[in-house]
Amino acid sequence: MASVDGWRPPVELPEIAFAGRSNVGKSSLLNRLVRRKAFARVSNTPGRTREVNFFSVNKSFILVDLPGYGYARVSKARRAEWRPLIEGYLRRSPALRGIVQLLDARHDPTDEDRQLFELLAEIGVPTIVVVTKTDKLASGKLRERLHALAVELELDESQMVAFSAVTGTGRDELAEALVSLLGQPSWRSA
Ligand code: GDP
Repeated sequence: MASVDGWRPPVELPEIAFAGRSNVGKSSLLNRLVRRKAFARVSNTPGRTREVNFFSVNKSFILVDLPGYGYARVSKARRAEWRPLIEGYLRRSPALRGIVQLLDARHDPTDEDRQLFELLAEIGVPTIVVVTKTDKLASGKLRERLHALAVELELDESQMVAFSAVTGTGRDELAEALVSLLGQPSWRSA
């Protein structure tokens, strides 16, 4: 799906969408999650992906890769494009079961991270926060960061998954969380 009102695949299976700023490690996480090397392209040129991509997984659900946001080296107008596109997807996804929002373990959430977080809270869609690149921090420092993020975002630490695409930490925990989301009726019908 390349524009707000552009084509999107017919709604046939439950969907789970992944969002995060450009370079947060989303492609690496998706590859780990589905155990493929090049399922989603790990990019050396962040800021390129400008569309919503849909992948059917085991004919049981649709994994939705939302455009990475917040890439600094593009014009302001292009930098603002992610929001209508993601809102457009959210509006047109009756089978959406949940969103996985990725945050880099080493950085504070950006303005755009917060904007998306607020948008998801407003809509009320179940959200899992995955903290990426945890291999880059020593374990004590990581615990501190997880706690600080939970406080800042008013999350329960049980809603957060610590993840590393390098070591595989968090892969099974995330997969289980997704299976559990997929087993629940849509929050929209609640
Ligand atoms: P995307 O833009 O969000 O899809 O991010 P990518 O998956 O392309 O990753 C951006 C950069 O971070 C690449 O250089 C990756 O190799 C690196 N990276 C991604 N995940 C991890 C991780 O868990 N640990 C480490 N150390 N590096 C990672």
